[in-house]
Amino acid sequence: MKTALCPICRKPSAEDHKPFCSRRCREVDLGRWFGEDYKLSTEEPLTNDGE
Ligand SMILES: [Zn+2]
Repeated sequence: MKTALCPICRKPSAEDHKPFCSRRCREVDLGRWFGEDYKLSTEEPLTNDGE
């Protein structure tokens, strides 16, 4: 069987946390989607000075 690697830290993934190696890495990945720890490149300039 091939061992999947954690997409976050490249360690072998754990059965309980597939495809990640740990809960922490899973949360890191989630955080990226929610923009907590991941700075998105702003493709459109945000000019909201009307607030
Ligand atoms: Zn990991």
